[in-house]
Amino acid sequence: MSFNESVLICDEVDPIINKVLKENGLKITYEPQITPDQIKEKIAQYNIIIVRGRTTLTKELIEKADNCKIIARVGVGLDNIDLDAAKAKNIRVINAVEAAMTSVAELVLGFMLALARQITIGDRGIRDGEWLKNELVGTELKGKYFGIIGLGNIGKRLGRLAKGLHMNIIGFDVIPIDEEFSKDVGLMKTDLDTLLQSSDYVSLHVPLLDSTHHMIDAKKLSLMKKTAKIINTSRGGVIDEEALYEALKNGNLGGAALDVFENEPAIKNKLATLDNVILTPHIGAQTKEAQSLAANVIAEKIIQILRGII
Ligand code: NAD
Repeated sequence: MSFNESVLICDEVDPIINKVLKENGLKITYEPQITPDQIKEKIAQYNIIIVRGRTTLTKELIEKADNCKIIARVGVGLDNIDLDAAKAKNIRVINAVEAAMTSVAELVLGFMLALARQITIGDRGIRDGEWLKNELVGTELKGKYFGIIGLGNIGKRLGRLAKGLHMNIIGFDVIPIDEEFSKDVGLMKTDLDTLLQSSDYVSLHVPLLDSTHHMIDAKKLSLMKKTAKIINTSRGGVIDEEALYEALKNGNLGGAALDVFENEPAIKNKLATLDNVILTPHIGAQTKEAQSLAANVIAEKIIQILRGII
């Protein structure tokens, strides 16, 4: 079966997506640098719109997508797509939830190890001509309490990896946590406040929703141990960055590692003035494996939808 739908790809995506869709007869327009104005002009011509994280499909743009059947996000979060507008136009929105879990979970492990051993501080010291051996006494991860907030795809993968490091895993989710998984990794379920009070490391893996916006605010941060470290690879708005800055600056929190920010690109973010912080430019899913898996998953889902299978 071959299809003749037209596809607009608005962001840079792994070439596999082009290849699979073309093989199935779809007509591809690849414009990874397209601007919102240019999208507005031509969106009505296309049946399928593909984005990654650069393009935001606003209500205004989606309202013009008169021939669109599918919007695909080559990634996980759907916060750059106005879902209500898509629903109103009867457009199906798909994403690749499974693709990034290993890459994001491995980044969190990297953050925890770097925070525990102050790797970035030692590195900066040597570059600045300082040998900070005596100052940089670290801690092991083994035996530490690790609180995971949100036990979906990424949270669960992380739990399994952390078990390999012999950490004690504590979990909080608003939905029941998979019993078999909990038993496998020895996860202790708890409420959010207890998790924050008990953990040496806390990692966030929730979607950005009204209910999760600033779910970690000054009050929640004040529950944490002064030595504890918080890691956010989910979405920037989940932590109140101003409150985090104050907690770190005043010595009320041990450290933080952030891959996501309230405003991206987070150039000149004042958290960068603090030593006990590691910042990366939203690279959680930025691996060869995650990108190619996301592209494959999306190409496959589009073909299955056109075939009427899913
Ligand atoms: P998922 O949907 O599989 O899991 C999210 C979990 O959070 C669910 O179990 C849900 O019940 C839980 N949850 C929702 N609200 C909650 C709350 N208030 N308190 C506690 N738990 C709550 O999602 P996922 O694939 O694991 O992704 C998690 C996050 O990671 C998303 O925000 C996603 O956008 C982000 N992400 C970031 C990157 C990156 O590049 N840094 C890459 C992929 C995904």
